[in-house]
Parts: sequence; C-alpha cells; structure tokens
Amino acid sequence: MQYYSLGKQSPNVNFKTAAITGQAPDKGLYFPMEIPKFTAAQIERFKTLDKATLAFEVMKPYVGGTIDDISLQEICAETINFDFPLVPITEHIASLELFHGPTLAFKDVGARFMSRCLGYFSQQEKAASKLEGSNISSPITTVLVATSGDTGGAVANGFLGVEGVNVIILYPKGKVSLIQELQLTTCGQNITALEVDGSFDDCQAIVKEAFMDGDLNQQYNLTSANSINVARWLPQQLYYFFAWQQWVQLNQDEQGNYPAMNIVVPSGNFGNICAGMMAKASGLPLGHFVAACNANDVVTRFLATEQYEIHQSVATVSNAMDVGNPSNFVRIMEILQNNFIHLTNALTSYSINDATTTSTIARVYKTHNYTLDPHGAVAFAAAEIYLSKNNFAKVVILETAHPVKFPEVVEEAIGEKIAIPNSVQFLLDKQKVSIPLAANYAAFKQWMLR
Ligand SMILES: *Cc1c(COP(=O)(O)O)cnc(C)c1O
Repeated sequence: MQYYSLGKQSPNVNFKTAAITGQAPDKGLYFPMEIPKFTAAQIERFKTLDKATLAFEVMKPYVGGTIDDISLQEICAETINFDFPLVPITEHIASLELFHGPTLAFKDVGARFMSRCLGYFSQQEKAASKLEGSNISSPITTVLVATSGDTGGAVANGFLGVEGVNVIILYPKGKVSLIQELQLTTCGQNITALEVDGSFDDCQAIVKEAFMDGDLNQQYNLTSANSINVARWLPQQLYYFFAWQQWVQLNQDEQGNYPAMNIVVPSGNFGNICAGMMAKASGLPLGHFVAACNANDVVTRFLATEQYEIHQSVATVSNAMDVGNPSNFVRIMEILQNNFIHLTNALTSYSINDATTTSTIARVYKTHNYTLDPHGAVAFAAAEIYLSKNNFAKVVILETAHPVKFPEVVEEAIGEKIAIPNSVQFLLDKQKVSIPLAANYAAFKQWMLR
C-alpha cells in the first residue's frame, strides 16, 4: 500500500514513511492509494471474529508489509486490549463507550497503535545501522504534541517506554483537569511535559512554528501525534467494526436482518468520523453519519451553504472539539470523490451550544441514569435532532471520554460527585513533574536547543 499526499506535490510513500514523518513535505495529509475492499463473505465472517484478529485483518492492508505479520498481530492485540461496550441509553440511542482504555479516552486506540508502530520501526532502524557497523542510537523521532487535555494523556501513556521515540507535550497551565494533568506529568522516562504559561492556542502555535523551524529540524526528527498521522488516524476504524459486531448481536432478527447502524460522532478535527467513513467505504455496512459539533461549526455551515469559512476556534465546555479548521475534513472529501452531493448524502451535521450540552447531561442523567461527558452530550443532543427528522431510525453515539475527565461541567450538571474509576486512582498518589515554560516560541526553542 502506497500513500499519496492530498497536497499532490510530494512523492508517494509507504506506511512506514507516512507514520514516521506524519505530514508530507508539501504539508498535505497522506491518504491511501486505494481503500481496501472487504468481500461480503469477509464481512459475514467479521460478525463473530475475536477483536484482536479482526483488528489485524482490518489494519494489515494499510500497513502494507512494512511490519511483519507476527509483530502486527501483537501490536493490534495490545492496541485493543480493553472493552468497547455498546450500551443502550434509550430505545433509539445506544452509547459506544470508548473510554475504557488506560487514559479513559478514545484517543488511546490511535496513540497505542501509532506508538507501537514507531517503536517497531525504531528497532528495525537500529538493527540496520548495527549491520552497517555504525552505532548511532539517536531516537528515530521526537513526537511533539500540544494538548488541551485529552490527547496529551493518551499520547504519553501510549508512548511510555517506547525505545527510540521521545515525546514532548505542551499543555496550558491551570487549564486541564486534575486527572488529565496527572496523566501527562507523571510518566517520566521518554515523556516530558512542558507546562506553558498560556492557553491551548499558545501551545499549538509553538508546535506549529517548531515544525517549520530549520534549526530544530536539523537537530530533531519532529513528528506530530495528532490524527493527521495515518498511524493514529487509521486504527480508529477498529471500534466501528467492534460496534457493528455488537449492533448485529443486539438487533438482528431470526432472518439475520438488522436496522441500519447510524452513527453520531462528536467531532473536532474530524479524524474519528473520517475513520468511520473509511470503514464504511471498505465495505462495513454502516448507516448514515452525523457529525456533532459544538459552537465550532465550520463543517455544519459548509453542509448548509457549500461555503467553507474558517474561523478562530471558540472555547466551549466540550473543549477537545474546539477546532476552527478541522484538518481531516479534506480526507472526508477525498473519500467522497470531492463531490458535494455525495457528501450531503453521507453526512449530516448539527451544532450544539453549551447550554444545550449541559442541560442534556442533566436530563439524560435524570431520565436515563446515564452520565454523559460534555462531548458525548453534544453527540446525544445531535442524535435527538437527527431522530426528530428520522422517526424510526436508531443511532449509536460515540462516548469519547469518561465524564470524570471533565468534573467541573459534569458535576455541576448532575449535582453529584463523580467517582474516580479504580483504573486511574493510582494517579492521585503520584508526583507531578513538569517544566514551566513562558508562552512564546523563543522560550521553547531555547529549551529545545539547550
Ligand atoms: C479528540 C476528541 C474529540 C474529537 O475527535 P476528532 O477526531 O478530533 O474529531 C471528541 N471528544 C473527545 C473527548 C476528544 O478527546
């Protein structure tokens, strides 16, 4: 499998190069030359396949021989070794809980897969340079990531202890929750947390400038760990397959028929929903897609007006979706042959404001005894609008983070404390280690070249 740049000005590369470099030299996103197509017989077999085998079969064509089968099986099995339960909330809405991974966020899947792939490639390079008699053991790559809270934890946890890969995380001081901060700052080893005296936008601006800085790039092989990287984006397809397996189990009648599985995805950078649309394009029988957005509604407006107008991002209670210009939207357009009619047939989008988000958390808790996080609540509210126009439909919403990661908003809405899950209790005894940094590029560069 080769990947081409959507910028169309760079040579094609294999999965390994795409994963190590992240973005093409022309700044375009990589996209697979052909989307693998599963046959009806394969899809039928997928209904009952164990998760690890299914993950391997879905990822193998994308990896295209750059990782041997045994190693890829291991990588896949480790990536998905937790639960992805589909939990009915109402008669028409079920929640796919993607928060049972080590950092309680759906980003665990992509981060775990990407980190293990880079670890594999690093070992491979090391073995090759030994054969050539050289003894260079510099890291193959330095992952640089700005986080508003969720990405950082998943990346830190995913890459912890991966040889040959260093990770530098920039996060805004005082603007992430307690659990999120502990997830970022207590890893040690190859993970460094920079506590920036500024906003998330400041962190992101520093990272962007770093990727374009000749001096830094001479010294470091910088790569990003966000969903522009194919190794983080593509494995997100997997939980659509796992959801579908459960959907069929829950909903099929004696003849084996089942209602369409429509999917509502809380969207920011549109990597997650785009992965679902890839899964559908490769033959997984999924229904309609709904992109649930907060006030950052570029795509919602584009679907209504065919005008793509980028805005500065605005802060909301679902802050992991505060994205003004979603990077992965170009990939969705590519899947749909850059055709606006195809797009509107495949995708609907609703924008949900903060007041509705918090009242939805309160109402769903009260009526259905289910605690949504703010991102899941945006999806739930969008699902209700979709259902009001499609009376008999059933939908799955993606619950992308555990509510405990957003305690201020959720506890205020439900009027109760949320219990900290056992799996993250241990963090509370750990000591935060971070490096304070002024919110400007010069300070960052000086630290990097120290
Ligand atoms: C990252 C994130 C999203 C948005 O996912 P995209 O792939 O950027 O659209 C939604 N919810 C949570 C909790 C997230 O961390």
